[in-house]
Amino acid sequence: MEAAACTDERREDSGAIRGMVKETAYYDILGVPPAASFEQIKRAFRRLALKYHPDKNPNAGEKFNQISKAYEVLSDSHKRDLYDHGGESGLKDGQRSHHGSPMDIFSVFFGGGSRSQSQGDRKGKTVTHHLVVSLEDLYNGATRRLSLQKNVICPKCQGFGARHGAGVQCPKCRGSGMETHLLGQMPGLMHTLQTTCSECRGEGKCIRSRDRCRDCSGQKVIREKKILTVHIDKGMKSRQKLIFHEEGDQSPGLHPGDIIIILEQKKHPVFQRKDNDLVMSMEIGLADALCACRQKVETLDGRTILVTSRRGKVIRPGDIKCIPNEGMPVYRDPFVKGNLLINFQVKFPDPGWLPTENLKQLQDLFPSRPKPTLPGVIEEVTLSNYDPSEDHTRGGRREAYEEDRVDESCHHPMQCQTS
Ligand SMILES: [Zn+2]
Ligand SMILES: [Zn+2]
Repeated sequence: MEAAACTDERREDSGAIRGMVKETAYYDILGVPPAASFEQIKRAFRRLALKYHPDKNPNAGEKFNQISKAYEVLSDSHKRDLYDHGGESGLKDGQRSHHGSPMDIFSVFFGGGSRSQSQGDRKGKTVTHHLVVSLEDLYNGATRRLSLQKNVICPKCQGFGARHGAGVQCPKCRGSGMETHLLGQMPGLMHTLQTTCSECRGEGKCIRSRDRCRDCSGQKVIREKKILTVHIDKGMKSRQKLIFHEEGDQSPGLHPGDIIIILEQKKHPVFQRKDNDLVMSMEIGLADALCACRQKVETLDGRTILVTSRRGKVIRPGDIKCIPNEGMPVYRDPFVKGNLLINFQVKFPDPGWLPTENLKQLQDLFPSRPKPTLPGVIEEVTLSNYDPSEDHTRGGRREAYEEDRVDESCHHPMQCQTS
């Protein structure tokens, strides 16, 4: 009732080829042969669960737990395979290799995971969350606790949604699970559309309201708050995916989906990350650029470092200098760090910063300049500021330059002659 029909068929198939198993304890608890089909297992569990349910049988709690545990393993084709091949210990090892290793859980890139799914497994939807982190988090490592709401199988009814035998044929689809909609009719031709039955959601069976499980209102699942602890390792990158296997919504007859957390690094005001290097720009004054610079930098782990250049080394605008080992820690090798690259901007002094009488002094400090050789007659012109928006030769704001235009024509002897 709780699993779609096609799932059951597939499980029947895989049951048919089961032969030798390592241990039979779980099969014995449910009283079924190791070659039992999923349907047989389900029927046996329901019968026993009813008999030993703590509501009816308060002293049989241990027995009920055994039955539930056996059913949990044998109803899940992946767990059942592990159990059949390796018994109880094989099941534990198999589950540990999927859930226990921090590498597997936290560090696997999407698609790079080692999880294999046996054929016939149906899995719930993968849910993706984006987690905004700072560059400091990626540098120092961090732990975040995310609070999520997820569906879990109702513990009261074990995902049946009702007491045993309460399902009746869905009146809407008469058990087929499909609804047929008539879209339109033309002579000799009928347009129909088939969809999953909205009443029973394709299961073909409904539960009468009085039989519904009160805890989950017949929904088979309940909402539960789940805290997901996300470990951000030193050196992890923006867009890196962390996969939490089977932590997604639970749904009867399906393996729970995965939760994928995608890290999103916020922009940092000072540093940009380039792989394992950090890049920053630094503006220094002309004196620093020409003589020696001493600038402090706050690192991502809260240290202050003093960046100095050797006396007499000139830093040009646009120069990129490097400080080894002050970049990002390398992921999974955090004692190794990239470089800090500093992109220098040189701030020139403002106009008039030096009294004109001192200019000669300054000039004498610079290397001697070659003097231009000049012909006998020259015109000397002076530079003025240029503003493209006020360029009158392109026709803009002509009226403001009326006088200039008159002057210009007089500077050209040829024009004066012809006019
Ligand atoms: Zn329930
Ligand atoms: Zn229906």
